Amino acid sequence: MTKNIESEIAVDERGYYGKFGGAFIPEMLEGNIRELRESYLEISASPEFKKEFDALLKDYVGRPSPLYFAKRLSAHFGTNIYLKREDLNHTGAHKINNTIGQILVAQKLGKQRIIAETGAGQHGVATATVCALMGLKCIVYMGEVDIARQAPNVARMKMLGAEVRPATSGSKTLKDATNEAIRDWINNPDDTHYIIGSVVGPHPYPDMVARFQSVISEETKWQLQEQVGRDYPDAVIACVGGGSNAAGAYYHYLNDERVRLIAVEAAGLGVDSGESAATSVLGTEGIIHGSRTLLMQTEDGQIVEPYSISAGLDYPGIGPLHAHLIDSGRAEAISVTDEEALNAALFLSRTEGIIPALETAHAFAALNTMKYDKDDVLVVCLSGRGDKDLAAFTKYLNDLVTE
Ligand SMILES: *Cc1c(COP(=O)(O)O)cnc(C)c1O
Repeated sequence: MTKNIESEIAVDERGYYGKFGGAFIPEMLEGNIRELRESYLEISASPEFKKEFDALLKDYVGRPSPLYFAKRLSAHFGTNIYLKREDLNHTGAHKINNTIGQILVAQKLGKQRIIAETGAGQHGVATATVCALMGLKCIVYMGEVDIARQAPNVARMKMLGAEVRPATSGSKTLKDATNEAIRDWINNPDDTHYIIGSVVGPHPYPDMVARFQSVISEETKWQLQEQVGRDYPDAVIACVGGGSNAAGAYYHYLNDERVRLIAVEAAGLGVDSGESAATSVLGTEGIIHGSRTLLMQTEDGQIVEPYSISAGLDYPGIGPLHAHLIDSGRAEAISVTDEEALNAALFLSRTEGIIPALETAHAFAALNTMKYDKDDVLVVCLSGRGDKDLAAFTKYLNDLVTE
């Protein structure tokens, strides 16, 4: 039976989901985090905010995103598969839902300068977009390696007027970009808001971002009611980098035990290969970027460099909500390799005429290993489109030909 979300899986006042979460921050950021913690619920619940947020989601982002019954894909897998089309949002992924929410919060707090971190570049583009929309200064930190493998998104950010600053330490990917952004915020606490791109970071970020993304499952409910006559599926499947598209796709089903929650992680070259980002399997409890969660670390607490072909899943941690969902058994984790994801991307492209983002392709690959019945209704969160990944797909197609 449906249970009350507030009393079940939800963040507590200190920002914890079970034993995961919290706010572990340098003293220099305490003022900013307190300001946000004390205001985000009030701001986002105000009628004025809701009106602006809903209007922008509708007329600017293009929501509601369709819930599409994938007929040929369903026939292939022998079940009923519905795709939640976040790829059709303005800027091509779910990330914009969150950046619209946060830019409105930043405005209410009187902030003039916006910083962000980005991996695949999707969050950077979504942030640069809302900054252009609101006329605010935008600085995006991005790992040098990601700048090279996501050139089209770097060009988009620059076109939109953002400054892209390379992170040159560590693996030169998302984790390092996040460190740089935190450092910037410490140096500019008064005029700057940091738009975090996933359900990670210190409280209240994970809860705030999950709430802004919850529009995904809010729409799924009425769309399923219209299309299949009941407002819940048997399973929701989503890829998990930090976990924001998954959090949004699960949100209104978190406490509905009829709905299986499937979290798909990037195994990279294989879970045991040493080149992986499968945090739920390889991770242990620790603190990263301000929250207690599962992360990939050595015995003495050094972060293990993650690897995935997809820049958006190449992160050594997961959000505290997901750590709790997996730890408590509420969500099932599945790991998918680079190659399985590439195969799934090709298959979806040629079966439904939809080219998914590499991140999203991981969610589709999970259909090969999941168990389900022919009458089941499965919802896959199609978190983003694959235009940014065409270089990787082209290489993959060429390798197939020459093999
Ligand atoms: C960023 C991104 C992801 C991973 O981020 P989450 O916070 O886990 O959703 C997944 N899919 C796409 C298309 C992305 O751009």
